[in-house]
Amino acid sequence: LTTADLIEEHRICVCVRKRPLNKKELAMKDLDVITIPSKDVVMVHEPKQKVDLTRYLENQTFRFDYAFDDSSTNEMVYRFTARPLVETIFEKGMATCFAYGQTGSGKTHTMGGDFSGKNQDCSKGIYALAARDVFFMLKKPNYKKLDLQVYSTFFEIYSGKVFDLLNRKAKLRVLEDGKQQVQVVGLQEKEVKCTEDVLRLIEVGNSCRTSGQTSANAHSSRSHAVFQIIIRRKGKMHGKFSLIDLAGNERGADTSSADRQTRLEGAEINKSLLALKECIRALGRNKPHTPFRASKLTQVLRDSFIGENSRTCMIATISPGMTSCENTLNTLRYANRVKEF
Ligand code: ADP
Ligand code: MG
Repeated sequence: LTTADLIEEHRICVCVRKRPLNKKELAMKDLDVITIPSKDVVMVHEPKQKVDLTRYLENQTFRFDYAFDDSSTNEMVYRFTARPLVETIFEKGMATCFAYGQTGSGKTHTMGGDFSGKNQDCSKGIYALAARDVFFMLKKPNYKKLDLQVYSTFFEIYSGKVFDLLNRKAKLRVLEDGKQQVQVVGLQEKEVKCTEDVLRLIEVGNSCRTSGQTSANAHSSRSHAVFQIIIRRKGKMHGKFSLIDLAGNERGADTSSADRQTRLEGAEINKSLLALKECIRALGRNKPHTPFRASKLTQVLRDSFIGENSRTCMIATISPGMTSCENTLNTLRYANRVKEF
């Protein structure tokens, strides 16, 4: 391998995280059909039946950069996924980290933190862990002397529209200027001085995201949430880290729903996830043409898919249960395609 190959190889990292069986799955005696035999292999053991009714397991194997089993913590997942990208933004790069998977597979748990109990804790999510290390890096002599400032944005893309989660869900316009620069007009960029400042913003954004919704998960499964950490030097962008909790990928199936709105949302989600895959693959191939205009999600992330020093990480989250097998296989196939370029 040459140095160029190594850089190439590390521009895109694709990982899988399996969550434990939950109470509901245990109660209905759902089977755990996923094993992680080594740190980069995921196996799906799908129960099948032959025509003569004998049962067998169809085993499928997938290989990724890392595979995390159900005993892994957010901190461990973070260390091998988003952590290396913190360096990227200090070196004037653009970094993105996506959580991709079906609703209920652990995207928000991984990115945002633990919201299952009454005491919501966002301090253990990848948003917060990345922020913690940004402030840690800022103290290093090399970066301290640059006098860098840190800002955050938090917005949501729902049905192809952008809403500011740090400004009472104000609907924002996305403009592209003559130089193909994409701008989210009026997006609030809040200065943050420490990790606690970031935690407060995450809380504000999260409560804004779900306010007025009957079910938090019903809403978040249909929208992409984008949390950004931006480093500026004398007002000019130095580096940007976008951390994204994607809409549930099973929503594409809603395109056959009887409800028109649900159908449109499903189609929009399908479109954006397909566009995302193509943009990441274009980044991996160093292809000059990136099809970012195909969706609002890829459009607002445009500058993260181009440029010399752009790096991306995808965390594909999967549910372990047999009842989720079809969605899990779809997630693994998508993740596989992302790293083939
Ligand atoms: P998603 O955002 O993909 O819809 P969530 O992150 O909301 O899924 O996870 C669904 C449920 O499973 C939540 O109650 C969450 O706390 C729990 N969960 C997800 N991942 C894990 C994990 N790795 N360990 C323990 N519980 C998890
Ligand atoms: Mg979620």
